[in-house]
Amino acid sequence: MSEQNHQQVIIIGSGPAGLTAAIYAARANLSPIIFEGDQPGGQLTTTNDVENYPGFVDGITGPELMDVMRKQAVRFGAESRFEYVTKVDFSSKPHQVWVGDKKYTSDTVIIATGASARYLGLPSEQKLKGFGVSACATCDGFFYKGKEVFVVGGGDSALEEAGFLTKFASKVYLVHRRDEFRGSKIMRQRVLDNPKVEVLWNSTIQEVLGEPDQGGVVGAVLKDTVTGETREQSIDGIFMAIGHTPNTAVFKEFLATDDTGYLITKPDSTATDIEGVFAAGDVRDHVYRQAVTAAGNGCMAALEAERYITEL
Ligand code: NAP
Repeated sequence: MSEQNHQQVIIIGSGPAGLTAAIYAARANLSPIIFEGDQPGGQLTTTNDVENYPGFVDGITGPELMDVMRKQAVRFGAESRFEYVTKVDFSSKPHQVWVGDKKYTSDTVIIATGASARYLGLPSEQKLKGFGVSACATCDGFFYKGKEVFVVGGGDSALEEAGFLTKFASKVYLVHRRDEFRGSKIMRQRVLDNPKVEVLWNSTIQEVLGEPDQGGVVGAVLKDTVTGETREQSIDGIFMAIGHTPNTAVFKEFLATDDTGYLITKPDSTATDIEGVFAAGDVRDHVYRQAVTAAGNGCMAALEAERYITEL
């Protein structure tokens, strides 16, 4: 292994958590490398307008926001690499990180690989992502003032998002594949009591209708999971709320996760159980999942990494 492959800080992931960690670590003169992964910029790059990130009075697009964050980090000496980490070994020090055959060692590793929203996997749904198909009501709900939307799912996320969307939409249809919700009792009741929400029980979406260059989503084909019958319904937008998958596969051998797969960190800290390994953003947070909370977390991780290095 060549000396040049030893780092003080390696950051894995390039959403708001990873890039904010990079800004802080770079300004602390730690010359971090960011391995951007297979979705440089993270989930925000699939969002159109971001209107709730502080500092942008007229909003900013997700890709632009991530681009300026990256430039800010690079300006202070961070190195961005459009590479995907395939393996890690945190069993001894220094920590080891591989990109294919290439091995790096590092005093600290900040994991900011995020979580991926689950989608149904329909080609029509994939085509209309960002054109009426969304997985983030907090990000995109505002664009559905006075419109009708579907929320797909029956867990707490779907129940919460359905309630949230009634602030904007004239009608929210909750499309659930079974005849009872998975979500908690209190959330269930709240949704059932909301006059703007109608539950379409035993229903799945078979196809999303619309074209990206013709105004996006216009409707969907729904299938009754009991009778097998299908029907079309006009709709302005579709919010998927069928869960998120934290991107932790390469770390699971070394780091503890909760029973839904999110990395566990110490209270009020981004430190994991392994010294020198920190986790920030959605990979450890299934509650807030916001760009600004992830960025705050990335800042914490860099400060904690810096302190750890100082004490080495
Ligand atoms: P979840 O609990 O796993 O629920 C996912 C829902 O999506 C389920 O109702 C599931 O249906 C449905 N689903 C999954 N795959 C589907 C598919 N291919 N087609 C149609 N429907 C599908 O996920 P979540 O709601 O994101 O919640 C994750 C965790 O975060 C939970 O522990 C939850 O309690 C927590 N959370 C808490 C809050 C809160 O307390 N405020 C808010 C959000 C999330 P089935 O029910 O048929 O499996």
